[in-house]
Amino acid sequence: MCTTTEKQKMNLLPILDVETQNNIQQPIQVRPQLPAVVAAREQLSTARIRLTFSGNDVATFIRNEAAQSPGSWVKLFVPSSNGEIVGRAYTLRKFDLGKGTFDVDFFTHKNGPASSWANSAQVGDTLTFAGPRDGGFSLDPISEWLALIGDETCLSAIQVILSNLPSALPGIVLIEVDDPDEHKPFFVDQNMKLQWIKRTHSPLGADGPILKSLDNITRPQGRGQVWVAGESNSVKAISTFLQEKWKLDKESIRTKGYWKKGVAHFRS
Ligand SMILES: Cc1cc2nc3c(=O)[nH]c(=O)nc-3n(C[C@H](O)[C@H](O)[C@H](O)COP(=O)(O)OP(=O)(O)OC[C@H]3O[C@@H](n4cnc5c(N)ncnc54)[C@H](O)[C@@H]3O)c2cc1C
Repeated sequence: MCTTTEKQKMNLLPILDVETQNNIQQPIQVRPQLPAVVAAREQLSTARIRLTFSGNDVATFIRNEAAQSPGSWVKLFVPSSNGEIVGRAYTLRKFDLGKGTFDVDFFTHKNGPASSWANSAQVGDTLTFAGPRDGGFSLDPISEWLALIGDETCLSAIQVILSNLPSALPGIVLIEVDDPDEHKPFFVDQNMKLQWIKRTHSPLGADGPILKSLDNITRPQGRGQVWVAGESNSVKAISTFLQEKWKLDKESIRTKGYWKKGVAHFRS
């Protein structure tokens, strides 16, 4: 059980900022920064690193129900190259309630402070984090199928969402990555069809590799739901495609730009 002070730390905070989700401005709470220590490091593939975070505040934080909702995320605060502390969004991949830890899987692209920090992080290093924030996914009980679409930055969210679905739900999972061989094995239920899509350097938009794959897939029958995240321009192009070609209404497509080419600290 959390103490009153702990609950206050997590919930009773002023609304101080806004963010945009699906074109709707939403008030968000600015939450306190809590300390965490790197307790373990695992190289998942050439460009993906799993860091396990621990500490007294982490142990309390993971008991917050909101932290455990599929796709929920935190801001991690890391030093930038000029020494300034900057916040970046990362999905909560796993919890260990017994050990009081959570895991974050970092895709270490070449450029940013969070990616660089994760690349060099060692057991014992510290940072602060704030959250949790909602991942924007909830399964509509009348959905007859689900599509999950993303890139390396969304692997955690997709895996957490998949592990919380009713097993009979059919659907498709499309993930664009640099090297599909790096990411196997990746568990999906037998009703879900998983496609790894190799990143090409074709321009974003109509030529994007995910759009090409979608064009070759027959739209599942019945009422469906799509969650799509990743590079912001790609996300927009995929959403437009789904509305125009698959005739899905906007309400059944949940989108989130996780990053934007050429933009540091992108917020959608
Ligand atoms: C809700 C949410 C959850 C997220 N969860 C995860 C997660 O679990 N794991 C994860 O790895 N990422 C995740 N991301 C994406 C991550 O926050 C961004 O990639 C972020 O930009 C990384 O910060 P940075 O300091 O490394 O780079 P920034 O300083 O933000 O950007 C510096 C430069 O790097 C480029 N860049 C940023 N991301 C990428 C990328 N993926 N590939 C190529 N170039 C890039 C930018 O365009 C910019 O030019 C999530 C984002 C959101 C919004």
